[in-house]
Amino acid sequence: MLESPPLMLDIRANLGRVQEAVARACARSGRSPDHVLLIAVSKTMDAERVRLAVAAGVAALGENRVQEAREKIEALGHPVPWHLIGGLQTNKARDAARLFDWIHSVDRLELAQELSRRAHGVSLPLNILLQVNVGDEPQKGGVAPAETKRLCEAVAGLPGLRVRGLMAIPPAAPTPEETRPHFRTLRELRDSLGLEHLSMGMSADYEVAIEEGATMVRVGTAIFGPRASAPLSPQGRGQGEGSPR
Ligand SMILES: *Cc1c(COP(=O)(O)O)cnc(C)c1O
Repeated sequence: MLESPPLMLDIRANLGRVQEAVARACARSGRSPDHVLLIAVSKTMDAERVRLAVAAGVAALGENRVQEAREKIEALGHPVPWHLIGGLQTNKARDAARLFDWIHSVDRLELAQELSRRAHGVSLPLNILLQVNVGDEPQKGGVAPAETKRLCEAVAGLPGLRVRGLMAIPPAAPTPEETRPHFRTLRELRDSLGLEHLSMGMSADYEVAIEEGATMVRVGTAIFGPRASAPLSPQGRGQGEGSPR
């Protein structure tokens, strides 16, 4: 295979810059970079470009659509863990449980039960995060903050799943500072539930998210560059729709 050196350099350079920014945000907040997983969000990028990112040293990959991810995962295998970060329809739970190492978008018991059925006894427990609708946006996926404890308790009893933490996609804001209160809300909720992980922060605001305790940041554009005119869909519950483009 011919590799495109500029592309490679591009991803390497971008990744290096993001890793440095992660390290600086950790230093500012007295945290260890070992406790922040940088997930490279590869949605809309083809398998070859994802392969280059793996060669450049990304630690984890994130995808928001099961269908799109399946081709890449089947082509590349699991050189690093794959994280499903987009909204998941219950009828895609079977594929999702088979393909992904982590699922960040569990926001209802019915979905968790289906994932449990598919994951139970098959392999290691499936790592899941509960997605919380911190901004109470009707068009977005995620359990309401006030309902999170109840969902967490219900899901905790399901075989085949391990609830590892919380995830959120806060409302879009003109500056990262405006998102800080939402990150804080999610952290407080996580603390009150005694969970480990906090998946929050994207290209525009991952540094603030780290200052507020993120243990996983989901960064696409800053690593891969802008996404080519992707088919836009309103944010919602459907397949891949819980995700900003
Ligand atoms: C696309 C996406 C990201 C990454 O967005 P960027 O702004 O490109 O970093 C993060 N989280 C979710 C859920 C996404 O869908």
